[in-house]
Amino acid sequence: MTKAPLFPRVAIIGLGLIGSSIARGTLALGLATELVVTDASPDVRTRAKELGLGHRIAESSAEAAKDADLIIACVPVGACGAVAQEIAAHLKAGAIISDVGSVKTAVSKDMAQYLPDTIDFIPAHPVAGTEHSGPDAGFAELFVNRWCILTPSEKASPAAVERLRAFWQALGANVETMTAEHHDLVLAITSHLPHLIAYTIVGTAEELEGVTESEVLKFSAGGFRDFTRIAASDPTMWRDVFLNNKDAVLEMLGAFQEDLSKLTRAIRRGDGDALFDHFTRTRAIRRGIVNIGQDAAGADFGRPHTHLPPQDNGKA
Ligand code: NAP
Repeated sequence: MTKAPLFPRVAIIGLGLIGSSIARGTLALGLATELVVTDASPDVRTRAKELGLGHRIAESSAEAAKDADLIIACVPVGACGAVAQEIAAHLKAGAIISDVGSVKTAVSKDMAQYLPDTIDFIPAHPVAGTEHSGPDAGFAELFVNRWCILTPSEKASPAAVERLRAFWQALGANVETMTAEHHDLVLAITSHLPHLIAYTIVGTAEELEGVTESEVLKFSAGGFRDFTRIAASDPTMWRDVFLNNKDAVLEMLGAFQEDLSKLTRAIRRGDGDALFDHFTRTRAIRRGIVNIGQDAAGADFGRPHTHLPPQDNGKA
């Protein structure tokens, strides 16, 4: 369904999973009169042209940003400052500058130092993704029924925040506003720590003695494979997340280690009641996620189950 354009010109810098998904949604819904896209990689720019990810493919971030009304940096967290520095001198007065980085405090500081007072700076984080990267990985529906968190700078005008909120809502997202610091604490437990745990378990399994790698792969349906999806996430992105949300992640890691010690003690002591109580509480959290529509209720994450093998019952 095409909507009325919300911005005359939108620029998307960085055409990986997130940038190309925003581009696809913007084009599909007609949210911009003109969509200009770019990426640092010439190969990605060529692919963006083949995929038709914008009305125009710019050769540089500065060229894309020129005269744009909304500019979204969709690059790794560690590259956001450099993008802001490159586009700063080319920004139109009244433009909205945003990003999609998974960390907000560090990125906001990195970008804000270069941005002029004549624009509205509204960092954002769509809490949506997959383990795939690159321009081919994106899809227009990625943000539907997911949350997008805005962490507006103090100087951003309420009208600009509402315009950006409307843009994300048009892409199907629910929008919430909070401070960058609070965002980083919440995401440390809901996203960053789970990724760290998945990266750890998958790495541990690889180095085990006494259990072969082929056994780990063969019997992965016991739980391991669900960690492998998260542990397959983009290495650049996740390196930058941990480097840039260090304090919040370390705080949550401390709490996690305490709880792990409690469960370790319960197992060592054979304390079945403690284990049972803990697992009962965690099961309720899973039900809560399904109840608010953040995951499907299907068993085993809705994976299709194959048919029973044909039986030879003797009736030839
Ligand atoms: P991605 O698929 O790796 O794409 C990032 C793209 O940005 C790449 O094509 C990269 O080119 C390009 N790039 C890097 N530096 C650039 C620069 N200075 N100027 C222009 N382009 C540049 O990454 P993604 O998954 O879309 O993630 C992008 C951002 O979204 C990150 O900040 C991440 O934290 C955030 N995010 C990701 C997810 C997720 O699940 N993936 C979810 C929410 C938010 P090269 O490949 O040549 O470096």
